[in-house]
Amino acid sequence: MKYKACIFDQDGTIYLGNSLISGAAETIARLRAAGSRTIFLSNNPTKTREQYAEKLARLGIPTNVDDIVNSSYVMVEWLKENTPGACLYVIGEESIIGELKEAGFVLSEKPGEVDVVVASFDRTFDYHKLQVAFDAINAGARLVATNPDRYCPTPTGGEPDCAAIIAALEACTGVKCDPVVGKPSPIMVRTIMEKLGLLPKDCLMVGDRLETDIRMGIEAGMDTCLVLTGDADREKLKISGLKPTMVLNSIAGLLEMCNLSGS
Ligand SMILES: [Mg+2]
Repeated sequence: MKYKACIFDQDGTIYLGNSLISGAAETIARLRAAGSRTIFLSNNPTKTREQYAEKLARLGIPTNVDDIVNSSYVMVEWLKENTPGACLYVIGEESIIGELKEAGFVLSEKPGEVDVVVASFDRTFDYHKLQVAFDAINAGARLVATNPDRYCPTPTGGEPDCAAIIAALEACTGVKCDPVVGKPSPIMVRTIMEKLGLLPKDCLMVGDRLETDIRMGIEAGMDTCLVLTGDADREKLKISGLKPTMVLNSIAGLLEMCNLSGS
């Protein structure tokens, strides 16, 4: 097996909403049997890694929590490394707040105490939160964020995601958010490589979004596989100018590409 690890986006690649994409479970099982580690990514910071592991298991892909990396996890790891002991103001939902507290960070709503404002996908965002973050940033706090997604796809269209919150904070403060750690940030790749003890050249990045999954993989020096079961189609591929190593109708085609079909 050419790849020591295969890194998968989840929604649009492994499943669509709550339905498994045909052939995904068998493909993952065969890749694992051939000795490849399988890692599952998500930019969504509103669910814990445990919740993603439960979802994958429910869909027939039993997965260790250690093999799941989402943007809130990457944010926690980045803060631990770069701003240890920082006092945080978090615009986020229960799950990321819990993860940050568990990692030992102190959270505060007093602008003068805050070292870092953490923006993330927060469906309880309101004017009060904007005001606290505004005051904290004006008092010198740094602005960082979990993910750059404009919206999170849902069966009815979508929900405004972290990009909207970043834009609100940047608009009123004139401060640029840096970094945004989720896909396509190299910070997400670095976190995964450190965790796996691998080099990008030994990994295959598989996903349905050109501007996040495929761009991140290419920029990191990984082989990339675009699947056409989610966001991208051949027209978007052409316009993007990106050249994935392989383009497959679905994840089920991966076994043949890795010479594992029929084995
Ligand atoms: Mg996707």
